[in-house]
Amino acid sequence: MQAANLPQRLTEALGPDTVLTQPDDIAPWLADWRGIYRGQAQAVVRPRTVDEVSRCLALCQQAAVPVVPRGGNTGLCGAATPDGQPLNVVLSLDRMHAIRSLDTIANTMVAEAGCILGNLRRAAADANRLLPLSLAAEDSCQIGGNLATNAGGVNVVRYGMARELVLGVEAVLPNGEVFHGLRTLRKDNTGYDLKQLLIGSEGTLGVITAAALRLFPRTDTRSVVLAAVESPQQALELYALLFEQCGARLQAFEFFTGACLDLVLTHAEGVQEPFAQRYPAYVLVELADTAEEDALNALLERVIGEALERGLCHDAAVSTSLAQLQALWKLREEISEAQRADGPHLKHDVSLPIEQIPAFMVSMQARLHTLDPAIRPFIFGHFGDGNLHYNLSRPAGAPKDWAATHEDAVTGTVLDEVMRYGGSISAEHGIGQLKRHAFLQYKDPLELRLMREIKRAFDPAGIMNPGKLL
Ligand SMILES: Cc1cc2nc3c(=O)[nH]c(=O)nc-3n(C[C@H](O)[C@H](O)[C@H](O)COP(=O)(O)OP(=O)(O)OC[C@H]3O[C@@H](n4cnc5c(N)ncnc54)[C@H](O)[C@@H]3O)c2cc1C
Repeated sequence: MQAANLPQRLTEALGPDTVLTQPDDIAPWLADWRGIYRGQAQAVVRPRTVDEVSRCLALCQQAAVPVVPRGGNTGLCGAATPDGQPLNVVLSLDRMHAIRSLDTIANTMVAEAGCILGNLRRAAADANRLLPLSLAAEDSCQIGGNLATNAGGVNVVRYGMARELVLGVEAVLPNGEVFHGLRTLRKDNTGYDLKQLLIGSEGTLGVITAAALRLFPRTDTRSVVLAAVESPQQALELYALLFEQCGARLQAFEFFTGACLDLVLTHAEGVQEPFAQRYPAYVLVELADTAEEDALNALLERVIGEALERGLCHDAAVSTSLAQLQALWKLREEISEAQRADGPHLKHDVSLPIEQIPAFMVSMQARLHTLDPAIRPFIFGHFGDGNLHYNLSRPAGAPKDWAATHEDAVTGTVLDEVMRYGGSISAEHGIGQLKRHAFLQYKDPLELRLMREIKRAFDPAGIMNPGKLL
């Protein structure tokens, strides 16, 4: 089959309302969420069933046409955007959004790939259960995209990344074969865990069509404290104390520097100065439980009291109402937006062994100083997961194109240092197009070779999401 005849064959096989070919209809599917990447495609396919996904992929493979799976398009690395090749087919999962089952005895939910994460969280809550995967994009991103990127979010410190919440996966391989891995077993020690290869594969191995997810008890009681700390070292010691004394109730442990707070207070609306004076850095801690609110607040106050006594923090504000809890979270959540308002900057979503964060921060500061002492760092992130957003803004008065002209030198310095401390160049956002060059540069050659061999085993014709990851 000729690649150019493919839209016609797809339309015959799947029906005209499933295959879009008009340039105006296709246009919205060709750019990424941030507007950084733009590509081309000859068709967008919107299947409703696994069988339709299977027929679509089989036809694409016969025509040797690249396929780009597309979820909610909230990925931050350009992985769901087709490249510049005009024959691409975008395969959108948005019409596969059924919850196939929800079991409150087994505590599992089986959902199709196109389900919006927020809808799944609400369905679980309606059944008095918790689906803990939670991120700011949850009302747009899809569970298939969450698994394909192995998303993280705010509750990783307690529940782990997306891959830790999955019991089974159903997927379609590039030749159209269906991988029936949709098991809900907790224990299944029968060889290689193939579903885990699909999780985090960024659409390069096959199309995830459904997933069996783990559910947990609802933890509606929440208590939050914002603690002022001197340094990342103090934050680390505070983390150790909270982990030891609060155990599984520790749901979030976020960190941000005083510079981030300044930025939020300058640019965000409806935020308030949390303390009578400013401090070098802050930690936002959330505990959550099924227990009574008083008991949870008492635990947090006791542990924070001990931290103040031991000099692990300088000051602390514990939430006493939902409004106050939300106000404290807002200081953390507004950082990205405030930095955007401040102007172009270089983002680095990196992770480190948590105990290495203080040393990394000191050494990185020295390296930045040699590059340019006027660079303005805004460092925040999911400290409890070892995940930092090590973002750097242009020196005051520098031209607006500073980020673009300094990217190679600055990002190279940050990533070199991350690797020196045993970290990862991508904590949660993946590789996509954005970090492909760095990925190929820093990843261990043996790991790269094994990944290429896995890619060949799943996708020998190389049609799945070319130009991404590998
Ligand atoms: C405001 C905001 C906040 C965010 N916060 C976080 C955060 O805290 N943590 C975090 O980890 N990420 C975060 N992200 C990034 C993004 O939300 C996640 O990467 C999300 O998991 C992507 O899901 P999606 O459905 O939008 O996928 P898309 O962007 O559509 O696709 C992402 C990748 O998955 C592939 N893909 C999509 N669906 C499938 C499928 N069914 N089968 C196979 N491959 C598929 C695509 O080809 C692409 O490679 C954030 C993004 C935004 C905009």
